[in-house]
Amino acid sequence: MPQATTAVPAATLPQIPVSALAPWAIFTALLTVVVLFFVGAEQGAFSVFEGTAIHEWVHDARHVLGYPCH
Ligand SMILES: [Zn+2]
Repeated sequence: MPQATTAVPAATLPQIPVSALAPWAIFTALLTVVVLFFVGAEQGAFSVFEGTAIHEWVHDARHVLGYPCH
């Protein structure tokens, strides 16, 4: 006995134009670079802000990501 088939509507994915995604991609990339700078390079000669406050705030993240520290 043949099995009955039911029609399932095809899923349609929303199409987002690249021009709408580009600002968010640039913002995300910029934010990533800033965060990686503060985690990985905000120390010593590369320090943007005086003191060690930022270094201490991101210290654990630095070690988790394997950046050389001390
Ligand atoms: Zn350390």
